[in-house]
Amino acid sequence: MPKSPWSVPVTEALHASGVRVADLDTNATPGFRGDKKAGELLLEERRAVLSGLQEKLYANGRSGDPRNILLVLQGMDTAGKGGIVRHVIGSVDPQGVDHAAFGVPSAQERRHHYLWRIRRQLPRGGQIGVFDRSHYEDVLVVRVHDLVPPDVWGKRYDEINRFERTAANAGTTIIKVAMFVSLDEQRKRLTQRLDRPDKYWKFDPADIDERAYWPAYQEAYQAVLDRTCTEYAPWYVIPSDRKWYSRLAVTELLIDALGKLDLDWPPARFDIAEQRRRLADL
Ligand code: ADP
Repeated sequence: MPKSPWSVPVTEALHASGVRVADLDTNATPGFRGDKKAGELLLEERRAVLSGLQEKLYANGRSGDPRNILLVLQGMDTAGKGGIVRHVIGSVDPQGVDHAAFGVPSAQERRHHYLWRIRRQLPRGGQIGVFDRSHYEDVLVVRVHDLVPPDVWGKRYDEINRFERTAANAGTTIIKVAMFVSLDEQRKRLTQRLDRPDKYWKFDPADIDERAYWPAYQEAYQAVLDRTCTEYAPWYVIPSDRKWYSRLAVTELLIDALGKLDLDWPPARFDIAEQRRRLADL
């Protein structure tokens, strides 16, 4: 049998348990045996596998199966969340994707509980939901910038766990991905945005201010991983200095989750022979 390109399954190699964010090697490629070229080639193959599995999920959803997948993407600016959406999620049929991006809450959203806007965007049966940022901002940016007092954000970790458990019990497979780049890699990526007119639109001067809060974000991410990595909604930590690796890793996590649903094509809800006869006659 040919040797697997992975020395350890991604779900093990990237699981958040025991990870120290401050010590993370963001340039590493955990579990993968190959180099960039091998990774890119494999990604092409795996995108096709993902697409096939997603079609089955969608087909089952159309037949009333409530199960779905939720991919939660968190990461500092430039960590590559957009690249995951474009290059990983972009390989599946857009009809089957429920994408939601969460920015600074609007005036209307602010009038509600912080989970209100999140709950409304949970994926429907058969869909792959993607949260580009999420309810975790309410214990990340909110904690780092003291947007609410500590006793308020402090209660959110348990509340988030309960919220996610309810979603999982209703048929959602939750995959949470925390993408980390080094400060140096972030400088490189921000510099590129300033160097290239086709990237200006991605540049936000506030992203530079946020760099001063790097240690505070690391601490806030550590708390998130320590307190909200559960069996029903695990966190995976993705070293993301190498874009090819982070894209391949998330593709594998999705393939793994879809594989575990053990999906089949939904059976025909009609008599096939009868329909053939009707078609031949008309
Ligand atoms: P991105 O930076 O991901 O391209 P946006 O430009 O829409 O997207 O910005 C998202 C910003 O919204 C981030 O700075 C993020 O920290 C902020 N944000 C998201 N959720 C919240 C929240 N609940 N409270 C405050 N700020 C938030």
